[in-house]
Amino acid sequence: MKLDRAIARMEQAAALYASIDIYCEGTGVVDLQGTDFFSKAIELLGPCLPVHKTRVDLETIFQVAFHGKSRALIVANKGVTFASLSPFTSISYITRHIACSVYHPDLGVETVNIGLSGNVYQGQVVVRAESACPPSFLFGSQRCNCCYQWSSLRELAAHFNPIQLPEGLKDEDLEKWVSTQFSYKNGRHLPMQDGRGMIMMHLDSQSGMGSGLTEGEFVWDLYNRALMRQLAENTTEQTYHTSIKEGYEAIGLQADARRQNKEVGYQIPAILLDWLGCSPTLVVLSNNQFKLRQFEMHGFEVQRVKSLGKISLAGQREARQRGEDFHHLDMDGQELSFDEEMERLKHELTIA
Ligand SMILES: [Zn+2]
Repeated sequence: MKLDRAIARMEQAAALYASIDIYCEGTGVVDLQGTDFFSKAIELLGPCLPVHKTRVDLETIFQVAFHGKSRALIVANKGVTFASLSPFTSISYITRHIACSVYHPDLGVETVNIGLSGNVYQGQVVVRAESACPPSFLFGSQRCNCCYQWSSLRELAAHFNPIQLPEGLKDEDLEKWVSTQFSYKNGRHLPMQDGRGMIMMHLDSQSGMGSGLTEGEFVWDLYNRALMRQLAENTTEQTYHTSIKEGYEAIGLQADARRQNKEVGYQIPAILLDWLGCSPTLVVLSNNQFKLRQFEMHGFEVQRVKSLGKISLAGQREARQRGEDFHHLDMDGQELSFDEEMERLKHELTIA
């Protein structure tokens, strides 16, 4: 019976998506606030809340929007502000945090966390889209550099937008002060203090290079499927001594599923930036040409700065297999410390 309820909800959600798709003609971004679709989307998608039981106006908490070009439906919260601490230098900075469910018709439900620092609506904005990597983020795996790449972003946010927490404030007063450090007006998340805009995007559902994609199916459980497939591939690698590519092929998949279906997995970051309405001029921290191309195809002017995080000898094997390019730094057989990487990034982003 409980499974029947789940199937019924999926069918209702699919019908809702179909009516929204018809309602939102064109290629722009349509905000669905103020329409009947809004509360139905909150009830059936994203948080799936019992709308009749809520005591606050949900339009003050959520955004629901349709991205015409990709026909992706986005459900997101309107943002939370908190004081953050950089991981290595312990410098305070402010983060604006937005959680997104992206319903992409050619893919499934992507779950994405977005952190904003500084003003992302002006000048050249620094962007990185990081795919989930539980071995690295949860357990500090040194086979790859994912966690260091993400840490370097947080260090950059602290470097460009450091704050001094007001002395003497605590508990409620401190929380009140922090909450005023970003405001939300006309769909924009504006910082109290202008500073270099940074967008830190974590694609929770893209473990193992978007491995959750199943051709020809709308995948409701992308997050779960991607994680299980990534770990299955990792186990295959060690059990059968394969490369990453061979590991995925051994379990019946293609390596880097993000490239399938017109590179749909790579479209997600560009769709979300389009929806955010951030500055069209980006510096993208990436080693991946497909990611860069999708930003350009969505009308962004892109400058690329490489992101290395930290290169250990153990990590080079995996990075090389993922097709990342270290040759400009002659990294073959050499190590790069996190501090050296931070100096390079600060320098390149200052002159960028
Ligand atoms: Zn990793």
